[in-house]
Amino acid sequence: MNDILPAATATWQYLEGVVRDIVQSYGYSEIRLPLLEQTDLFKRSIGEVTDIVEKEMYTFQDRGGESLTLRPEATAGMVRAGITNGLLHNQRQKLWTSGPMFRRERPQRGRYRQFYQFDVEALGFEGPDVDAELIIMSARMWQVLGIDKLVLQINSLGVPESRARYREALVAYFSGVKSALDQDSIRRLEQNPLRILDSKNPEMQSLIEAAPVMLDYLDTESAEHFAKLRALLDAAGVAYEINPRLVRGLDYYNRTVFEWVTDALGAQGAVCSGGRYDGLVEKLGGRATPAIGWAMGIERFVDLFEACGGRAPAAHTDCYIVAVGAEAEAEAFALAEELRDSLPGTRIEVNLGGGSFKSQMKRADKSLAEYALVLGDAEVAARQIGLKPLRSNEDQTTVARAELVNELAVRLAN
Ligand code: ATP
Ligand code: MG
Repeated sequence: MNDILPAATATWQYLEGVVRDIVQSYGYSEIRLPLLEQTDLFKRSIGEVTDIVEKEMYTFQDRGGESLTLRPEATAGMVRAGITNGLLHNQRQKLWTSGPMFRRERPQRGRYRQFYQFDVEALGFEGPDVDAELIIMSARMWQVLGIDKLVLQINSLGVPESRARYREALVAYFSGVKSALDQDSIRRLEQNPLRILDSKNPEMQSLIEAAPVMLDYLDTESAEHFAKLRALLDAAGVAYEINPRLVRGLDYYNRTVFEWVTDALGAQGAVCSGGRYDGLVEKLGGRATPAIGWAMGIERFVDLFEACGGRAPAAHTDCYIVAVGAEAEAEAFALAEELRDSLPGTRIEVNLGGGSFKSQMKRADKSLAEYALVLGDAEVAARQIGLKPLRSNEDQTTVARAELVNELAVRLAN
């Protein structure tokens, strides 16, 4: 669980702002959800035989004896909120949320126990148009931010009936090579054979490569849905690869699944992942409602942005007010508030804790401010300000207090 330090938050804020603006420009609204939910919600939605539910959840009993879990992902809470607030009955919802998720995984670069996701969900839409729109929207984020080291992988998981036939084929195949399976996979062979395909164990990869693929077992409607999605992506000029082994780590998916992957971040290549979950609302007690969404890992997103040469616009202080003497100190706050009123958005710091002129100028320099505004008792008496550019060799000038706002407005605009 990481502290996200001030040196990093400028980039986080910038990227979160860009993504939020794009998503809202497509008509999605924010919803804020609790971090804690009843454990049962995740067991029923994500699936009992998944990495998350079997070994990664932070679960505890509260003082009332209820089993609660820190959310490992957002979709389950989103659906629960849609049902309990009556948002899904005869309505369609386009929603986004963001915040921390918790999974007790083995920590490594790009894989943390508290990590942040930006999450988008469209509930009440059958697709495949919305499937395409969600993908096009994510492609826009990369394009706007100059992120180019990503490949889009898509697959279709069909519907429960076609999955059942596929499951039989998988069980037959993996049973034939049972002696080569790892412990997890042997257990999953009986309980949830599709999960074997999601194994991260390198020794399992060649067996997985040779396994039967879902696309060969698709029902006609799912095949049509998938073909239309591909046609819409083609028309929008969004390139993709079909990855028939993409199954995703959660049980609730059906039909469309997709993942934006990169090889620029080492082992943790999935940056933004999503899929359709038409059965989930009903499973959690609501009326049958088709739905689809994606989630992006913000740590990986930030890393990738920087790996592609991206830099957030620097947030720096514009003016640092140096005030020496009792009268000047009192005047400094009035001056700062006046500038904040007149020049909104300008970043102004007032020297705190007194100090000599020299030590205050040192702090001004360290704040990376463009200008020091110098107030001594003499300046206060004469209603003037000393204006010292800190990022050039220009000399200090004296400006009448009444002229300062105009002078700064001109200088800061350049
Ligand atoms: P992975 O295959 O890397 O384990 P996942 O399939 O478990 O990912 P999802 O549950 O779909 O991932 O979560 C969506 C996104 O959240 C992922 O694409 C990834 O960017 C990010 N993510 C998932 N787990 C972590 C983690 N432990 N630390 C940081 N980011 C994560
Ligand atoms: Mg995972």
